Amino acid sequence: MEFNVGVIPGDGIGPEIVREATKVLDKTGEKYNVRFNYEQILMGGCSIDKLGIPLSDEAIKTAKKKDAVLLGAIGGDANTSPWYKLEPSLRPEAGLLKIRKELNLFVNMRPAYLFDELKDACPLRENVCGEGFDLVIMRELTGGLYFGERKTVEVEGKRVATDTLTYNEDEIRRIAIKSFEIAQKRRKKVTSVDKANVLDSSRLWRAVVDEVAEDFPDVSLSHMLVDNCAMQLVRDPGQFDVILTENMFGDILSDEASMCTGSIGMLSSASFNDSKAGLYEPSHGSAPDIAGKDMANPIATILSASMMLKYSFDMEEASNNIDEAVRQVLRDGYRTVDIMPHEGKGELKQVGCRQMGDLIAERI
Ligand code: NAD
Repeated sequence: MEFNVGVIPGDGIGPEIVREATKVLDKTGEKYNVRFNYEQILMGGCSIDKLGIPLSDEAIKTAKKKDAVLLGAIGGDANTSPWYKLEPSLRPEAGLLKIRKELNLFVNMRPAYLFDELKDACPLRENVCGEGFDLVIMRELTGGLYFGERKTVEVEGKRVATDTLTYNEDEIRRIAIKSFEIAQKRRKKVTSVDKANVLDSSRLWRAVVDEVAEDFPDVSLSHMLVDNCAMQLVRDPGQFDVILTENMFGDILSDEASMCTGSIGMLSSASFNDSKAGLYEPSHGSAPDIAGKDMANPIATILSASMMLKYSFDMEEASNNIDEAVRQVLRDGYRTVDIMPHEGKGELKQVGCRQMGDLIAERI
């Protein structure tokens, strides 16, 4: 069997972490008799440098033909990189928004999982994180405030800026269905997060999610206001299984949930459309401050590749094998610098990006 994977290394630490993820994929492929054919796709700052635009039509065409796409990260330091002197539609992040739109990736799934071995890195007190937590945030990705009409005009001598938050019921229904389907494979609990006490878009959100829930009687549904959810995530994260929410709320809550795990370098993510193909990427950015220094933690990207096996290629056992190899490396005491405790290092051994990839690949 073989799969065609589009690979977008991107900028900053992107090429380093993607290299380690494909190393682990290849080792997994050997074990399970599967070949992964990679084709590199230019996106982000590196595409601007070469072509003057962050994502070419050719790159989009290539990505659309693949069984799945693995992305490192794009972007540079906003204060020093010349990419940020360009108009917004030509900056690296415009490439990311464009590929999401072109591939019709309407949902982003971000797990927040507390590894037992990294409990010390969790900023929550032990009595709060308790037995740990294992939740996913399903964030709507192509609608809402980030894609609505916007303008800045002058009214009676004052600058006035407007952004518009629009959702139609189909956009809500399709992410709700995906979220209930994911919940069926987990602990069968969906918490839909909105601001229905204020926003019309949230009231429609709630009504449509209630309709979808009727088709999933085995999954329990509750609704929560976004401000309460922000509190509950740091008060009792263990209560959540699947959090379903719109674009901007999801953007903010998923960063908060990430922080509860203690390291952004550990968090994978996947974005889906209606087909089996998906875009898999770590939750973090291109970390220009550590790029090229062999300091990046490749685990988030490796776990994203593992999600690719599970959700796009139906290789659940191989995916579990990668997750277990990661756990084993942590159990054996290896840490990249971002997950190394400041005090009480004990027997822990600090390794670079490349060695972390080798150690995980060895345990497949
Ligand atoms: P960032 O996530 O790149 O970095 C935040 C901090 O976390 C930095 O100190 C960095 O060194 C550290 N960090 C991040 N990933 C790490 C890893 N794997 N291992 C060890 N440490 C890690 O966020 P930022 O600094 O706000 O953004 C940098 C650039 O990345 C910007 O251009 C931003 O637009 C872009 N960005 C891209 C994506 C994406 O490609 N999907 C997502 C977020 C940000």
